Amino acid sequence: MKIEKSKSNFIRDIIDEDLKTDKYGGRVHTRFPPEPNGYLHIGHAKSICLNFGIAADYAGLCNLRFDDTNPETEEIEYAESIKEDVRWLGFDWDDRLYYASDYFEQLYTYAAQLTEKGMAYVCDLSIDQVREYRGTLTKPGKDSPYRKRSVEENLDLLKRMKEGEFEEGSRILRAKIDMSHPNVLMRDPTLYRIRKKNHYRTGDKWCIYPTYDFTHCLSDSIEGITNSICTLEFENNRPLYDWILDQLEIHHPQQIEFARLNLSHTVLSKRKLLELVDEGQVSGWDDPRMPTISGLRRRGYTPESIRNFCDQIGVAKANSIVDLVQLENSLREELNRTAPRFMAVLRPLKVIIVNYPEDKVEELDAINNPEDPSMGTRKVSFSRVLYIEQDDFREEPPKKFYRLSPDREVRLRYAYFITCVDVIKNKNTGEVVELHCTYDPATRGGDAPDGRRVKSTMHWVSANHAIDAEVRLYDNLFTKRDTSEVKEGTDFKSNLNPKSLEILTACKLEPGLKGVAPGSHCQFERLGYFCVDTVDTSAEKLVFNRTVSLRDTWAKISKAVEQQKVT
Ligand code: ATP
Ligand code: MG
Repeated sequence: MKIEKSKSNFIRDIIDEDLKTDKYGGRVHTRFPPEPNGYLHIGHAKSICLNFGIAADYAGLCNLRFDDTNPETEEIEYAESIKEDVRWLGFDWDDRLYYASDYFEQLYTYAAQLTEKGMAYVCDLSIDQVREYRGTLTKPGKDSPYRKRSVEENLDLLKRMKEGEFEEGSRILRAKIDMSHPNVLMRDPTLYRIRKKNHYRTGDKWCIYPTYDFTHCLSDSIEGITNSICTLEFENNRPLYDWILDQLEIHHPQQIEFARLNLSHTVLSKRKLLELVDEGQVSGWDDPRMPTISGLRRRGYTPESIRNFCDQIGVAKANSIVDLVQLENSLREELNRTAPRFMAVLRPLKVIIVNYPEDKVEELDAINNPEDPSMGTRKVSFSRVLYIEQDDFREEPPKKFYRLSPDREVRLRYAYFITCVDVIKNKNTGEVVELHCTYDPATRGGDAPDGRRVKSTMHWVSANHAIDAEVRLYDNLFTKRDTSEVKEGTDFKSNLNPKSLEILTACKLEPGLKGVAPGSHCQFERLGYFCVDTVDTSAEKLVFNRTVSLRDTWAKISKAVEQQKVT
């Protein structure tokens, strides 16, 4: 089988070796195992691309499995959103959608088998006592007084736990391994606990639930997984998984750990993201500022851009932080090629072309995407009253400001050269409310026949033809690159960026954008890439999200800082 060189990594090396030694009979079978206790984020996308990607490249299979053993935090809504997100990213589990909760019966049988072998026991210590008996990293634990229970008594107690005879917290089933093991996870870990809670799928059928560790390795084994790929935090759990599988003498997948994705200026933890949602810090899981798949989708990210990003960052054995800019660049690169361009004025300033006839309208030619001539051209209407960007005018221009100012000539894109001849202000506030300009009819299309040059080309829209829209500009959700750095006595939310959202409600767009479909992309010339919001757009109101700016402004800033350091 031929694998692209650029994709080779240590995980693929292990699989190549397994194939060579025929460890799993030539099979490659992976899985993506989310817990349905929140929406997926970009970190999960990395794991999805890795697991489904490896399966595809080795002509293997990848399962989608819900690791749903915790009745307290799991919900159908989350499970549904996860399926939608995986599909949207472009992956397909065919008929291999599994639920760990479907294995509850089998898992219980395994627990009983371990008990029967004398490798598990029912322990009556309280939660606090269990903790106390466990010891620490530097101090060995000590045996529970219940460790010596007979197999018969353990089997009887386990059955009665299952039948609901005992109170929550009064008993647990524990593996009998070694209370002085250097790895604390091996000190008789819990396998089952009593929880008198309804589970979102199994209802009140069970009142004992298997722990994550017990469930996870056994679910992988039940499904015949060959390579159980997980993040580095689970390296310490591997000996426990190995122990359980070896005791039961069942199919034994190879666990391989890789470094989780950490992204700058955001948090990738469902618990923290849930906190932002619950506290109303964002509008929901799909707020366009969220690093969730649903947030990125609403923001205007495409599946391709996310997959390319995951490919580019690769997999490693050491944790690091990837710059958000890298994700943005992956999308910029794509939208530069694919997004049609339009003119839009976000903060309008009225311009009257005083020497242009009152009723005249001209249809001028504009290019849809200079990167791709096959996208063709369109007409834009020009008339006497226009809007330009407030930012594009300065009454007293600072040095190096080449856009419009009194008596200066500039080019209106695809239209004419104009010169500002008068500035109209609000008498009370002094605010500039209108500009009077003249145009040169000889410059139609944007070129002067006499070869004279202007230093700036600006976008504009015709006031009578423009359509109204709301535009939402986004900035990083957090101000710190490394959001795990927090001031003492504060939590991660102290790094939230108070300016992460700016809403502009009086924007004027080129009329060609009328009726544009929710979710579709375009470039607003000079302003960035935008997409039509899928949630708040209605027949009455058009809402655009800024997906990414045109260039990466942060990189410019850090480059400037770098240069300062050098000189
Ligand atoms: P979180 O820390 O956000 O709560 P989790 O690991 O608890 O995430 P799961 O639903 O258990 O969430 O994750 C499903 C899979 O996604 C796991 O196999 C996990 O290894 C992987 N995963 C989770 N976060 C990341 C990440 N940041 N980078 C890469 N893989 C991740
Ligand atoms: Mg997890």
